[in-house]
Amino acid sequence: MNLIYEESHAGHRCAVFPKVDLPKYQLNPEMKRGTPAELPEVSECELVRHYTNAAKYTFGVDNGFYPLGSCTMKYNPKVNEETASFEGFTDIHPLQPESTVQGALHVMYSLASRLKEITGMDAFGLQQSAGAHGEFTGMCMIKAYHESRNDTGRKKIIVPDSAHGTNPASAHMCGFEVVSIPSKDGLVDLAELDKVLDDTVAGLMLTNPNTLGLYDSGILEITKKVHDAGGLCYYDGANLNAIMGVSRPGDMGFDVIHLNLHKTFSTPHGGGGPGAGAVGCKALLAPFLPSPEVSEHDGIYSLTSPEHTIGKVRTFHGNFTIMVRALTYLLVLGREGVRETSMNAVLNANYLMHLLKDVYRPAYDVTCMHEFVLSLEELKEKEGVPAMDVAKRMIDYEMHPPTMYFPLIVHEALMFEPTETESIDTLKHVSDVMHTIYNEAISHDLDLSKAPYTTEYSRPDEVNAARHTVLKYEHH
Ligand SMILES: *Cc1c(COP(=O)(O)O)cnc(C)c1O
Repeated sequence: MNLIYEESHAGHRCAVFPKVDLPKYQLNPEMKRGTPAELPEVSECELVRHYTNAAKYTFGVDNGFYPLGSCTMKYNPKVNEETASFEGFTDIHPLQPESTVQGALHVMYSLASRLKEITGMDAFGLQQSAGAHGEFTGMCMIKAYHESRNDTGRKKIIVPDSAHGTNPASAHMCGFEVVSIPSKDGLVDLAELDKVLDDTVAGLMLTNPNTLGLYDSGILEITKKVHDAGGLCYYDGANLNAIMGVSRPGDMGFDVIHLNLHKTFSTPHGGGGPGAGAVGCKALLAPFLPSPEVSEHDGIYSLTSPEHTIGKVRTFHGNFTIMVRALTYLLVLGREGVRETSMNAVLNANYLMHLLKDVYRPAYDVTCMHEFVLSLEELKEKEGVPAMDVAKRMIDYEMHPPTMYFPLIVHEALMFEPTETESIDTLKHVSDVMHTIYNEAISHDLDLSKAPYTTEYSRPDEVNAARHTVLKYEHH
């Protein structure tokens, strides 16, 4: 389809203003632009049709099944949008006097208290814009902690090979050396951990359940070993969908954590929209949290600075309306509802895995948590149909493909995370579609390497698009 600029016709306008009957104002010539702004000229009708038609080509969780593993593309209740658009939240400015924004500060304070309860942490900061940003912040806090004790030889962060790619990247950006350890049966191999633990280790970064959807039952032993070696434990809680109200990272022995409010705690995401990577920590790290944080005294909220803060990690207080959505989500669910959410997420993932496993092999055939990984290696070897073709074919059946080729330790991986918001009927339908695709793959009636067949573009050159991104309209 065309860009809005290509729909432009000279003289078309969205609004017709009445004739001005005031004397002409002469603008200082220095303030005038040299060339007219290149804006599309379209009527209101052309404008509305353009964007309505463009919206038809996008796919979101409001369109259909979106099992993007690790990303928790759950349906977000519209009541969250309603509260996030209250004027009292949208028409305020971060530089207003604290006394005039007590409601907003109350939202931040109550959200932080609830997140502390859910994770078993002692303090929470909300400034970070994304999960990776939270990881970076947590790494800076670990670094500041060791430095404050003059323990300056700790340069290493241990990261298991099943980790999300942002973990090693954040540790590296913070100046740490990343030590990767191989997994055993998808879990941390304690013998491999022992080999790398010494007084040069600053900490460990871990996701539990990990990105294979497996819960590490050795978690207490893992965190104890790291602590005994003088290191700290970082929990990647980007996706907390499996354990909310059931199991707490603080009780597992973790010292610092980030949560993606834009995954587990609702907020439409994808397409790089605004997010929030809240960072929680145990008391020993609380003095290092970013500044400012919200404090309460006699029912009055104020912005204060933690004693040894690592400083600011972004402008003002973070993406505030994401916090409003998260708090609304938690208030609507309540304590029992939060727990039920996780129980259903785990139930749905196991149900779908069992529906699929007669034709698609789970990489680890055990009870999973909120997500599971299939390996389509056999289909590729026997039929020459890679996981990519199966994923692309799902689009023809109006489903978003799952996360794929991740984690790297599983070959031809498809990682499904159905989330708790899908019904049993949807899961059965997904299973039917996946079986149909399997039959297409083994019968070779259709060339799956050309799928999807029903979209505006079939297979874009993804590498080229990533390497030579064109973000600016060029007039021709
Ligand atoms: C999504 C995710 C991240 C990164 O979060 P962003 O908000 O995309 O930066 C980190 N770890 C895990 C396990 C994730 O699923």
